[in-house]
Amino acid sequence: MGKRFDILLFPQGKNKAFTLSYDDGVYQDRRLVELFDRYHVKCTFNLNGGALGYKSPAEAPVDVSKIPAEEIREQYRNHEVGGHALYHSDISSLGSPYAMHEILEDKRILEGLTGGILKMFAYPFGLFNSEVKEMLKTAGYLGARTVRSTHSFELPKDPYELDPTCHHNDEKLFELAEKFVTEKTLRPSLFYVWGHAYEFDRNDNWDRIEKLVRYISENGQDIWFATNGEILDYISAAHLLQYSVDGTMIHNPSATDIEIMTAFGRRETLKAGTTTRIGDTPL
Ligand SMILES: [Zn+2]
Repeated sequence: MGKRFDILLFPQGKNKAFTLSYDDGVYQDRRLVELFDRYHVKCTFNLNGGALGYKSPAEAPVDVSKIPAEEIREQYRNHEVGGHALYHSDISSLGSPYAMHEILEDKRILEGLTGGILKMFAYPFGLFNSEVKEMLKTAGYLGARTVRSTHSFELPKDPYELDPTCHHNDEKLFELAEKFVTEKTLRPSLFYVWGHAYEFDRNDNWDRIEKLVRYISENGQDIWFATNGEILDYISAAHLLQYSVDGTMIHNPSATDIEIMTAFGRRETLKAGTTTRIGDTPL
């Protein structure tokens, strides 16, 4: 009897995943969704349920008008909608009752509009504390994104502190993209990019995001394109796996098929709700 050396793979045996996260539900999301759909990449759009349909004043330096409530379901149908607090308040400094209202009322409104259960949240201004994290768990969120760049492709350790790889304006963006695509890695890797669609208007750099997603998409044979919530769901399901003492059986109690690579380099699909006998003798 000995150790198992299983490596988690993503669906279809892929070992790389790419995801995007864009905030505030601004009208420029329409153009961004069209671009993401063209290259078949997936994004989580984090919205403020109390500010839908907001109109920017004419004198504003950048138009940050927001998509109205009645368009939310159709606009984001190929992607994921996440929460971002009701009025984009700094929920780490409001006091618990009002912070809870910002979290819950935002979630209630967006669930009503999308017809689904929200899983993901993005901290307004990237600000949070341990109390806010607890509130998000109580509200039924599975994870929340920060604004801290890791410049790495590590899987998240704490789902309530999802640190992205980088912002789209990061000077290392294309260097990281090339590393992600070309790197031969056994361990699962995640490239996670975030931003706001209005920034492409403000900086006149829509070409930057198109260049990124076209490059990732054209080199996407080994890459799983998924929303933040789909990736978190998959990792959560993998954490539920149950192992026999002698290492020959793995039970997958979840509703998701899990792919692994054994020490002998063989792919195994651990079917949802079943126990799989692993043919390899553990080392
Ligand atoms: Zn925001």
